[in-house]
Amino acid sequence: MSNDSKNPGADAGASSNFLRGLIEADIASGKYSQRTDHLGRPLPAVVTRFPPEPNGYLHIGHAKAICIDFGLARDFGGRCHMRFDDTNPTKEEQEYVDTILDSVKWLGFDWKDESGEHLYFASDYFDKFYEIAEYLIGAGHAYVDSQSAEDMAKNRGSFSEPGRNSPFRDRPAAESLDLFRRMKAGEFRDGEHILRAKIDMASPNMNMRDPAIYRIRHAHHHRSGDKWCIYPMYDYAHPLEDAIENVSHSFCTLEFQDHRPFYDWVLARAAEGGFFRHPLPEQTEFARLNLTYAITSKRKLLQLVEEKIVDGWDDPRMPTIVGIRRRGFTPESIQLFCERVGVSKADSWIDMSTLEGALRDDLDPRAPRAVAVLRPLKLIIDNFPENLVDECSAPVHPHHPERGQRSFPITRELWIEEEDFMETPSKGYFRLFPGNKVRLRYGYVVECTGCDKDADGKVVAVHCNYFPDSKSGTEGANNYKVKGTIHWVSATHALEAEVRLYDRLFSDPHPDAGGKDFKQALNPNAKEVITAYLEQGMRAAQPDDKFQFERHGYFVADRVDHAPGRPVFNRVVTLKDSWTK
Ligand code: ATP
Ligand code: MG
Repeated sequence: MSNDSKNPGADAGASSNFLRGLIEADIASGKYSQRTDHLGRPLPAVVTRFPPEPNGYLHIGHAKAICIDFGLARDFGGRCHMRFDDTNPTKEEQEYVDTILDSVKWLGFDWKDESGEHLYFASDYFDKFYEIAEYLIGAGHAYVDSQSAEDMAKNRGSFSEPGRNSPFRDRPAAESLDLFRRMKAGEFRDGEHILRAKIDMASPNMNMRDPAIYRIRHAHHHRSGDKWCIYPMYDYAHPLEDAIENVSHSFCTLEFQDHRPFYDWVLARAAEGGFFRHPLPEQTEFARLNLTYAITSKRKLLQLVEEKIVDGWDDPRMPTIVGIRRRGFTPESIQLFCERVGVSKADSWIDMSTLEGALRDDLDPRAPRAVAVLRPLKLIIDNFPENLVDECSAPVHPHHPERGQRSFPITRELWIEEEDFMETPSKGYFRLFPGNKVRLRYGYVVECTGCDKDADGKVVAVHCNYFPDSKSGTEGANNYKVKGTIHWVSATHALEAEVRLYDRLFSDPHPDAGGKDFKQALNPNAKEVITAYLEQGMRAAQPDDKFQFERHGYFVADRVDHAPGRPVFNRVVTLKDSWTK
């Protein structure tokens, strides 16, 4: 590991953000304050970028990077560039570009500001990368190596052994330049030659042992087409992309720490060549997000989709941004989650309950309440007039009386939750059982008289009588003291809906740790589809509308399948965490 004394707050704990301190120090010292762009216009003191490779769907880990890159730029009056790191020709596709843009926007960030639209593609810089490579060759900082791949690997050495110089290392610059131009012209096959930086084959940092800069790759590129058959390596292109865009703070995950010396080397050489001016961009690494009960490897997520273990990238069980969005998470809850997680240099695991808790904390103060019966059992109020429809009302939100009341009818036959009746009550059970009184929330007090059973002894209906003077909100209500309150909906007025009860995709907190087969860790109960009865006002719900179903949790009208006449709701999370032991 390289020494990190350069980065302040290297051991900052969770829920703090050492990157803030770094930016504040740079602003205080004026480090990036005097810069201008190529047209002489002043540049903000904080320019960051979010640089995904368009080779997959974004996941919750990327959300952390997005909140860092876009969030810090916003907080410090700077700007963040949306940049596609599309230097690798074969894996990238337009579909990914579109979904990535959509996800970043949904999370609440924008790459447009008064200075323009900062959407960039690294592939637009191919000419510049090439020009700088020719300069490096001419200046003696790069050479074309013609060793076989095996020899190159052998001569690289190991962590304990220095590497050996390539026999081509000292070939004249003119010869390297000629070969490089012919590489570009398509005269060679893949792998025949490679352009390498000339640094130090004995460096203790393997990344500094003459790393590759360009390789031959006869492949079609999603944007540049067939113009190029040589492509720059990520470690060479990335610092140049940052410098071309006048990025000041280049944040990335810890695995790039040992690549930082090469990042600095590339920029220092290019600056010597007059391509860039100081101050140059600086890379700072932070710990990636590891979330329990989830996986964030693009390859494994793809496997879940391809093997149809989940229903596509936006399956509400997926940790993809499109998945958690469809599940019902809000952009605000994701931003809150990222804030709470903080940014540090220490790798750690964040518990899924932190993400779920952020959703509860975001939705509790704003989600309208509704009644839903998920496991329906018929309750018959025998002394309730057959055709009476009596209106009951409840606040839209208990802490916001200004949001008004919602109303729903009570009738002779209701749906209640199966678990709210026990023929023989267990100790401490205060809900319905023969002889016991409960309050029907927002309605009347009823006394249970018995139940009907089918041939197998299964309870199919519960009977009760109500007390007409006990209605909630009336004076008489105070004359009844009951220990239990249950929720209900009118069987004749309720909205029948498909409800998808989602839970965590894995039942193991570390599904893919230590090379485990993550498919063995799938939670068989992560999706259950039921038919539920909702209060009638839910007929007006629109896709993406979110509610708290009282006593049950937070639910959203599914953004894909919900339609008037075919209501479909997803459970985002339960009201309380049932996973903590
Ligand atoms: P790949 O292996 O395909 O490169 P990646 O996860 O690194 O996958 P990128 O598209 O390169 O995906 O990532 C874009 C940015 O998001 C990078 O800056 C990367 O460091 C960051 N990022 C990716 N995964 C996480 C994570 N789990 N936590 C925080 N940041 C992440
Ligand atoms: Mg990457």
